[in-house]
Amino acid sequence: MATLAFVHAHPDDEAILTGGTMARARAEGHRVVLIVATDGACGEVPDDLADGESLVDRRRRETECSAQLLGIDTIHWLGYRDSGMTGWADNDHPNSLHRADVDTAAARLAEIVEAERADVLVIYDWHGNYGHPDHIGVHRIGVRAEQLLADRVAGLRVFEATMNRDEMARLMAEFADVGPDEGPNGSGEGFDPHAPADDGNPMGMPEDEISHEIDVAAHLDAKRAALACHASQVEDSSFFLSMPAEMFARAFGREWFIERGVEPVAGPPHQHWLFGAA
Ligand SMILES: [Zn+2]
Repeated sequence: MATLAFVHAHPDDEAILTGGTMARARAEGHRVVLIVATDGACGEVPDDLADGESLVDRRRRETECSAQLLGIDTIHWLGYRDSGMTGWADNDHPNSLHRADVDTAAARLAEIVEAERADVLVIYDWHGNYGHPDHIGVHRIGVRAEQLLADRVAGLRVFEATMNRDEMARLMAEFADVGPDEGPNGSGEGFDPHAPADDGNPMGMPEDEISHEIDVAAHLDAKRAALACHASQVEDSSFFLSMPAEMFARAFGREWFIERGVEPVAGPPHQHWLFGAA
């Protein structure tokens, strides 16, 4: 039995990006730990908040719902405030992850990973998949935590969760006529994975630089249900959930990772599980 620790930027990222891998690891008898860096305070505010309920309260409960469905054993909250998208005033909030001291945040992350005796740590790729300041933050504090843990956790393997840009382009071409009109974050009709995202870089990473392709088709239902837990975030969740089933299966049936410190072999990803036998 291994312990896998996943760091995510906001409530809902766990379901979108690595939900299938989490569910699969749990189904195979491993322990799954979720570390959420920020509170999601800059998300969509639903109009059905109860008296005294904040968006942060709601998103915490939605994450607990998602975690239960994905088989996550423990949730840790790093306690930073959502920084919002690039250029938002929220970037400069004193408690935002964007403003946080990297060494301090990484030390807190490293403490959790060490206490959980993790064998695998999952962070984000260098531009956080699409340039959101908090996603880049997860990469930065993850890389620093990896350095801090080098002497403390023997054999820790570190992976960057990413999206396969080439596969996304193939998917958009194949499902051009049937997909939802609006892309995530309002990217609009004709979403082009090779076009610049929030930070000017295209989404995800080229296939040649991705080491691991994980088949999570057997866990699609859990992933879809976990995504549906995040009902307050209509713009994100309904975009994905409104996909025709066949497109959803293609888009979400595999997840993508880059193992740090390992030179990827050119061509499509060759590794098919994060550790042990595929
Ligand atoms: Zn996010």
